[in-house]
Amino acid sequence: MEDCLFCKIIAGDIPSTMIYEDEDTYAFYDIHPQTKAHALVVSKRHVPDLERNTALTDHELAACLRACATVARLMGLAQSGYRVVNNCGEDACQTVKHLHFHVLGGQKMAERMA
Ligand code: 5GP
Ligand code: ZN
Repeated sequence: MEDCLFCKIIAGDIPSTMIYEDEDTYAFYDIHPQTKAHALVVSKRHVPDLERNTALTDHELAACLRACATVARLMGLAQSGYRVVNNCGEDACQTVKHLHFHVLGGQKMAERMA
């Protein structure tokens, strides 16, 4: 999609620090990390949010979750643990309207998420 920040990052038009890539997903460091380790995993196909997940194949959707685990391992979080977050829509304060998952870790996090 033309005016989408993450589509531009996937295309390489906006620079990012890549952690992992496969045919369905692209993962890179968040520009404003909220924890010591903070990555974003995005679906390569543009879908605005998780609510519109049926626009992706089961394979593409599963690839996102698998990529989260791979990225966590690549960031050295497999043993210590990590959190995967998806913000969907207004109440969740989603700012970029392209499906993405936050992989957070590297420190002890709050027990409550809201
Ligand atoms: P959301 O709030 O939509 O769940 O998450 C969007 C995330 O994208 C935020 O954590 C924000 O820091 C990150 N972000 C926004 N613009 C850029 C950018 O240009 N590059 C990178 N690497 N991350 C970005
Ligand atoms: Zn997009």
